[in-house]
Amino acid sequence: MENKKIDWSSLTFGYVPTNYNVRMYYRNGKWGELEVSSETSINIPMAATCLHYGQEAFEGMKAFRGKDGKIRIFRPEENAARLQSSSRGIMMPELPTDLFINAVKRVIELNEEFVPPYGTGASLYIRPLLLGLSQQVGVKPAAEYLFMIFVTPVGPYFKEGFKPTPMAIMRGYDRAAPLGTGTIKVGGNYAASLKAGVLAHEKGYSAVIFLDAKHKEYIDECGPANFFGIKNNTYITPKSTSILPSITNKSLMQIAEDMGMKVERREIHVDELSTFEEAGACGTAAVISPIERIDDLDEHKSYIISKDGKAGPTCEKLYNKLRAIQYGEEPDTHNWVMILD
Ligand SMILES: *Cc1c(COP(=O)(O)O)cnc(C)c1O
Repeated sequence: MENKKIDWSSLTFGYVPTNYNVRMYYRNGKWGELEVSSETSINIPMAATCLHYGQEAFEGMKAFRGKDGKIRIFRPEENAARLQSSSRGIMMPELPTDLFINAVKRVIELNEEFVPPYGTGASLYIRPLLLGLSQQVGVKPAAEYLFMIFVTPVGPYFKEGFKPTPMAIMRGYDRAAPLGTGTIKVGGNYAASLKAGVLAHEKGYSAVIFLDAKHKEYIDECGPANFFGIKNNTYITPKSTSILPSITNKSLMQIAEDMGMKVERREIHVDELSTFEEAGACGTAAVISPIERIDDLDEHKSYIISKDGKAGPTCEKLYNKLRAIQYGEEPDTHNWVMILD
């Protein structure tokens, strides 16, 4: 049953409240039962570790209404594994994969009317959170945690078509330390990227491309998305100890290989930017955001990627293929999609 009150075509990547969220507490060394809630707020003790010391991790994924009317979730076991990795990174208990996936399925079923119809380009965004709840002012991991998931319908990312945008390198800011928390999905990395992000937006850029914090020579990633470049039929994406392993990037690497391209995961020096035929940022929200040009604001250099202001053919092909798999238009040869029944 579809929610008749929502105008699917005018949805943005914003927040629309839905009927239910799901919650699970970790107490006395074990996970409790999955609870269903219609409260949009959570009760957090003011001395909780998540509020003071950033003991918090999150995930982001989407569910799609397919051509056949069925709801598809894209690679949820990858999100479960990544949340476990984030948990290890900041000393939180790991949520087992089956509990994670059951919670994802349950919250979608409860909010089925908010899964946008096929053909609208919209989808249901799924946001799992894990928070340290124990009341303490000493710096140490919490003993109690809350895992929860809420969902919200989001519109297509590209309302005016798949168009490249300019991005900026801002050498005065780092997002993550070389051996810090860049490889895990924690809110602190986003807090660290906000200032540069806002400054870049004010100057007309869609995103910041962060360099490796140690040498300031190699591309790391964008604030919330991985980077890739295309040249000589090769998909090239950075190897670094401070970037988040994007599931979209991992999937695009596989699709590129399936399409007969070479795939390289290695350091990308800033100077190499001038040699790319195409480049993009990739993540769940947009799949691919093609890059028009990259301005190095401190070195006063500009790397033009798209000369005609259009997305390149390879970005277009990769984008279309991944979306087609997510919406059930093309065979899911790698078993990426979990169908809800
Ligand atoms: C979530 C995230 C991404 C994108 O990951 P996907 O799994 O593709 O959505 C990229 N970079 C950072 C820093 C992220 O937090």
